[in-house]
Amino acid sequence: MDHSTAADSSDGAYTVLRRAAELAMEYLRDLPDRHVDAITGYDEVLDLLSGPVPEHPTDAVAVVQRLAAILGPATIASAGPRYFGLVVGGSLPAALAADWLVSTWDQTAYSRMSSPAGAAVDAVTERWILQVLGLPAEATVGFVTGATAGNTVGLLAARHVLLQRQGWDVEADGLTQAPRVRVIAGDEVHPSVLQAIQMIGLGARLVERVAVDDQGAMRADALADALAADPTPAIVCAQVGNVNSGACDPMAQIVDLTREHGGWVHVDGAFGLWAQASPRLSELVAGVERADSWSTDAHKWLNVPYDCGLSIVNHPDAARAALGATTSYLPTSTAREPGVLVPEMSRRSRAVPVYAALASLGRPGVQALIERCCDHARRLADALRDDAGFIVCNDVVLNQVLVRADDDETTWQVCEHVRHSGEAWVAGTVWHGRAAVRVSFSNWATTDDDVDRLATVLRDAAKALRTIR
Ligand SMILES: *Cc1c(COP(=O)(O)O)cnc(C)c1O
Repeated sequence: MDHSTAADSSDGAYTVLRRAAELAMEYLRDLPDRHVDAITGYDEVLDLLSGPVPEHPTDAVAVVQRLAAILGPATIASAGPRYFGLVVGGSLPAALAADWLVSTWDQTAYSRMSSPAGAAVDAVTERWILQVLGLPAEATVGFVTGATAGNTVGLLAARHVLLQRQGWDVEADGLTQAPRVRVIAGDEVHPSVLQAIQMIGLGARLVERVAVDDQGAMRADALADALAADPTPAIVCAQVGNVNSGACDPMAQIVDLTREHGGWVHVDGAFGLWAQASPRLSELVAGVERADSWSTDAHKWLNVPYDCGLSIVNHPDAARAALGATTSYLPTSTAREPGVLVPEMSRRSRAVPVYAALASLGRPGVQALIERCCDHARRLADALRDDAGFIVCNDVVLNQVLVRADDDETTWQVCEHVRHSGEAWVAGTVWHGRAAVRVSFSNWATTDDDVDRLATVLRDAAKALRTIR
């Protein structure tokens, strides 16, 4: 019996890829104008897809068409220009297309041996990232799945160095008998940092929290007090870009205080680190380049497709030593190999779409993207500030805007109203104990007109809710 299908031949591959490209282009063509919220839901998709593993093959084109028909309407148009939830970027055309090629090449971007292409693009893109973000040229960059993984790698490197300085080899001898390391973070630390801390065995409950100001930025005086209280070496987890307000910790003071104390500064800069790409905005994060490690995302503000984050460490061997990638695949080489800077062994070449994004925008294009998003944030805040229905809750310093309506209940309902309208997508958050609409600008395709449409739908929602009462 012949089990071959059309997919076995390259003709079959051309046919299904061509069809997939058509379906992708239709999706992208509709993206700016479609209902932003999902059109169908989880249960519907589950019903349509469920059933046992098929006992018979299905033609590849039919499989892909069916997936597009069922899953497409259940996507949220988060890649589109009027999605303002979480902090989610879209995909620049060059980055998206490059990502298709990564899947096509199907390389293991582990080493020069496993993929010369993957290793080389990783090495070049590392340099570019350091240049765009204004970070030390000696730092290493790992291309990981996101800022959570980036935080994990940065904190592993911190753990390695602070324990090594105390004569302890944590990779070999573990933590059970190890000398103590303090971990300090602001009260507004992102949950992903705490997740990283608990994963690497430093104990989320042991994190010493220091006070923040009314925008959520760590108070330098509170950090100074915390450091003075105990001479034990400390990892200080700073943040640039509070996920609600966009506020950035006072980096210069944090670095000076921590250095004096003999500690390590790790920066969670998932989106805020991109302020470094703009001379106008870099003032907000002045001093950040003197930290020891940084985590940031490429899939947020740089607008490459999911998933891609960057783990950046300014101690040449710390990431490599902390990750312990000294396998028989890499006997003695000290040459840069992508796989030793990340937790995974087999991995896709995440540097390729990052390279494509940076190449297609150029340095001025990256700067313009970051500044444009911040201009959008101000435009929205200005539009709503004059409106009796809303209060702008944060100092709009970056790409984040927090607004509240008359009360908590109305604020939650405004978010729902906006999502139901299909005109835009926003989510609520809790800020200073009260509900707020959180608006994030991080998509390359958002225009002033999109911002005005958001302002209008927010105003309409507040008005409609007021007349109901
Ligand atoms: C999004 C975000 C993270 C987590 O990043 P992932 O890419 O989702 O892992 C961490 N910190 C901050 C401030 C964020 O905004």
